[in-house]
Amino acid sequence: MQILSSQVKSYMDRSSWIRRMFEAGIELKKQYGEDQVCDFSLGNPDLPPPACIGQGLRDIADEAGQPFAFGYMPNFGYPHVREALAKEVSREQGQDVPAECLVITCGAAGAINAFYRAVIEPGDEVLCPSPYFVEYGFYVENHGGTLKTAPAKPGTFDLDVAALEAAITDKTRVLLINSPNNPTGVIYPRETLKELAAMLERKNQGRQRPIFLLADEPYRFLAFDGAEVPSLLPLYPYTVVVSSFSKNLSLAGARVGYALVNPAMPGHAELVAGIILANRILGFVNAPALAQKLLAKALGSQVDAAIYARRRDAMKRVLDAAGYAYPMPRGAFYFFPQAPGGDDVAFVSLLVEERILAVPGKGFGCPGHFRLAFCVDEAVIERSADGFKRAMEKAKA
Ligand code: PLP
Repeated sequence: MQILSSQVKSYMDRSSWIRRMFEAGIELKKQYGEDQVCDFSLGNPDLPPPACIGQGLRDIADEAGQPFAFGYMPNFGYPHVREALAKEVSREQGQDVPAECLVITCGAAGAINAFYRAVIEPGDEVLCPSPYFVEYGFYVENHGGTLKTAPAKPGTFDLDVAALEAAITDKTRVLLINSPNNPTGVIYPRETLKELAAMLERKNQGRQRPIFLLADEPYRFLAFDGAEVPSLLPLYPYTVVVSSFSKNLSLAGARVGYALVNPAMPGHAELVAGIILANRILGFVNAPALAQKLLAKALGSQVDAAIYARRRDAMKRVLDAAGYAYPMPRGAFYFFPQAPGGDDVAFVSLLVEERILAVPGKGFGCPGHFRLAFCVDEAVIERSADGFKRAMEKAKA
């Protein structure tokens, strides 16, 4: 009896190693206790949301008795939240963003899917640098497209614009970038982004359909040592930015984010209308009412980024003491070191023996590395130091 579609079945078979890894982690925690396992596998922000979230919820509770308090609303979201969001996004992007260019979505993931639904024809390609966030491939395939990748520059993981250019075909509809990056922590510098924009402008010459630049920016708030996260809006008209409040407000489960269509894009109003319709017909209907109301009370606040900065330093000390090689992350909360011995899956198994959980680079389209998420208490990072050293010694032996 066939229960699943062949596509979903193949996804499940292909990702069975991820399941095995999670199961190994759960088993370790059961066997030794949660506090004896150093779990760096998940990008689930552990910092509590800022105080305005608790207060906001209490205020919303006072209004909950009113008719339509949580009723349907326009598919783009509550108009007053959209207005407030436009002010905040204008500040972040360093230019005026009208509310009419925004669609409030179920996180950045919902925004990416709604955007793809609006622009992708069957057979279209989305191109992105590897390594990349593991869900990207599924999101493109949800809409009949294919994810193509071109490797980032070895060592630094900066964009390799020439490699991306060489990978563009007649079917390329979207070029997707994520800065600050999951899993590498790289922030693309302004000069590289200008080069990328110029390349796309060149490629658009004579094309019926422009190549969109999709900027996935949920980690924009988390740039260390004053690093600049340049806005793409002034650099390339066919830019769409997606982001969310999953990381900066620790609201990952509340599912709220947005898509922003560059006001400078010819035909931007049509694209916004398409994303709004897609948000509806994909079954999201609208972003959750409660999360939007909460957002209106929390815009401008964020979790304490200094805590992540201290953890990054602690992780660096641990990795340096054990002799790992990696580019220092300039943003987001991930390290992406080289796997000693070269086999990332085998090395992650060595870490499991030390009760350390990490994700092999294979899962991000970049074997030979592994990802560590440092959204864990500093004490966990300190506690992992000996295990990282022992795993390194075993890999060398
Ligand atoms: N993009 C990147 C690079 C991510 O790391 C994540 C989540 O970890 C997402 C998108 C999706 O985030 P959300 O849908 O919660 O906004």
